[in-house]
Amino acid sequence: MARIGIITCSNCTQEVNCAAVVCLGDMRKRRGFFERYPQDEPLDLVGLISCAGCPTSAAPDKILRRVRSVAEFKIDALHFSFCMTAVCPFLKKYSEIIQEAYPNLKLVMGTHQPVDKRQFMDGLHELLCPAVAPPQTMVDMIRGTLKLPNKVEK
Ligand code: SF4
Ligand code: SF4
Repeated sequence: MARIGIITCSNCTQEVNCAAVVCLGDMRKRRGFFERYPQDEPLDLVGLISCAGCPTSAAPDKILRRVRSVAEFKIDALHFSFCMTAVCPFLKKYSEIIQEAYPNLKLVMGTHQPVDKRQFMDGLHELLCPAVAPPQTMVDMIRGTLKLPNKVEK
């Protein structure tokens, strides 16, 4: 039995609410980056965690706080989610840091079957920064509470 952990991009899971259903679906169906496991080998998903959010250039090792929550439970492999491999500027650094902390842990750079990376990035951009009717933010709420005019007078 292979014991597996998955780490996802928190922009995708926390900000735009992906529940990793495609990752988990392909794990069940042994597709994408789960093809590497023999069909008759049971897979045990030990834990699924999102990244710790932007680490700044000062603290990329903050990822270890999240990784630890699965790596300390005898996993054989940690899969970086497809979204993480597609969009994360810290991917290489994260891999180095994790591998140094857990030298025996197999890092797998993907989960579900890859989709067109450009299309994925464009779609994610639209979700995070919608061109039409941007979502209200705390700024709008505060301005509304204070009954400030919509436009700042110049
Ligand atoms: S650090 Fe990488 S994985 Fe984490 S939210 Fe940012 S882009 Fe996503
Ligand atoms: S790889 Fe795809 S399914 Fe998995 S968490 Fe990211 S966006 Fe969701």
